[in-house]
Amino acid sequence: MNSGSDQNALPPQLALCGGTVITSLDPVRVITADVVIAGDRIAEVGHAPPGVPRRDCSLTLLLPGNVCAHHHLYSALSRGMPYRLEPPANFLQILQRVWWRLDRALDKPSVRLSALVGGLEALRAGTTTVIDHHASPNFIDGSLDVIAGALEEIGLRSVLCYEVSDRDGLPRAAAGVAENLRFLAGRRPLTRGMMGAHASFTLSDDTLAACAQGAAAAGAGLHIHVAEDRADQDDAVARHGMRVVERLGTAGVLTANALLAHCVHVSDFEVADITACGATVAHNPRSNMNNRVGYPPLARFGQRVALGTDGIGGDMITESQLAYFRAAEAGAATGPTWPLERLAQGARLAGRIFGEPLLGSIAAGAPADLTVLSYDAPAPLSAANLPGHWVFGVAAGRVRDVMVAGELIIADGRSTRVDESKIAEAAAREAALLWARLDDIPAHPFTPKGW
Ligand SMILES: [Zn+2]
Repeated sequence: MNSGSDQNALPPQLALCGGTVITSLDPVRVITADVVIAGDRIAEVGHAPPGVPRRDCSLTLLLPGNVCAHHHLYSALSRGMPYRLEPPANFLQILQRVWWRLDRALDKPSVRLSALVGGLEALRAGTTTVIDHHASPNFIDGSLDVIAGALEEIGLRSVLCYEVSDRDGLPRAAAGVAENLRFLAGRRPLTRGMMGAHASFTLSDDTLAACAQGAAAAGAGLHIHVAEDRADQDDAVARHGMRVVERLGTAGVLTANALLAHCVHVSDFEVADITACGATVAHNPRSNMNNRVGYPPLARFGQRVALGTDGIGGDMITESQLAYFRAAEAGAATGPTWPLERLAQGARLAGRIFGEPLLGSIAAGAPADLTVLSYDAPAPLSAANLPGHWVFGVAAGRVRDVMVAGELIIADGRSTRVDESKIAEAAAREAALLWARLDDIPAHPFTPKGW
């Protein structure tokens, strides 16, 4: 793909014609126009010039590609996984008995297939960028390259990191830092890196300092879980005499490039620190509901909130709808424009990481990352009421086409790059092997202080 200054010289290769174009989610802007693609960019939003191949988009919405701001692709093969231990009664036991067993069972083939099937699922839902948080303690070195390779194969844009943690011992913590630094030093067209860390309660001061130092040296933000459950705060106070956000601030990782997942159990002071530094908060409503960890003070974070799935698929249309309904239930004063603004915030974050400020808009000069969604509007549709159509009507299952960096990688609901049925078969075989390994892995013994 071409990129950069020579874009104007490229001839248009495709025009998406006759659709209703959502050029921006924040503020909501809707027009009827043709979208002309040249190289990896949008050349024009207006009228398709003669002679350019056309793709009919009548009765569709063209929307900016969605960004999942917090994903765990490594969990993709866990769906329907058998479970034979005592049912977990709280958040820590969910980690000890489910996720910290699964991640130790992962090897190179299962990491690769998780990325392929999880990435395809995200693409088919109209998600064009995934910001991932990866863990595979028995396959650390090179794991991010395996994921990047798989996602590039299917055409998905991504931001990757390895979740550094002390829970599996100091050598693995050091290997995690090294994997992030190694990956950050490389350059791939559709993939960028962050420094990843699990959560305050599984990080020693030395390991957190190593993450901070690495992030600063690489000019990258830290991607970390923050106060998802009260246990994270109890541990920080017991071990360090300060709350989680203060600890992160002291370590020097509270920056505008930081990505803080959850932030459910944060104090007024912590909210103020987070908003002052300009970090992004990734809200994951389905995961929070599923783990029964509580509801974050979202309104107080203002515009800094983006949406993620926390590994529950890659469908940001559904996640944004659930975010709206959960906010309504919580009595948060949000209207239906709020989830669209949150999606736009995720695109701004990805745009900053890629150095592409127009990512997330359908405008001349923007990277051509967009989705064509079949939608027969049952009532008049305009910028003013699009949020209502979005929250109550659109469905990821009706995504027809997906374009990333100017290439149509999903056309008529199918990948143009890979044979999805073969990948699904390989993933099912790999999942069976993964599940068999899991049977031999006991609950993780790591317990935070103050628990
Ligand atoms: Zn997470």
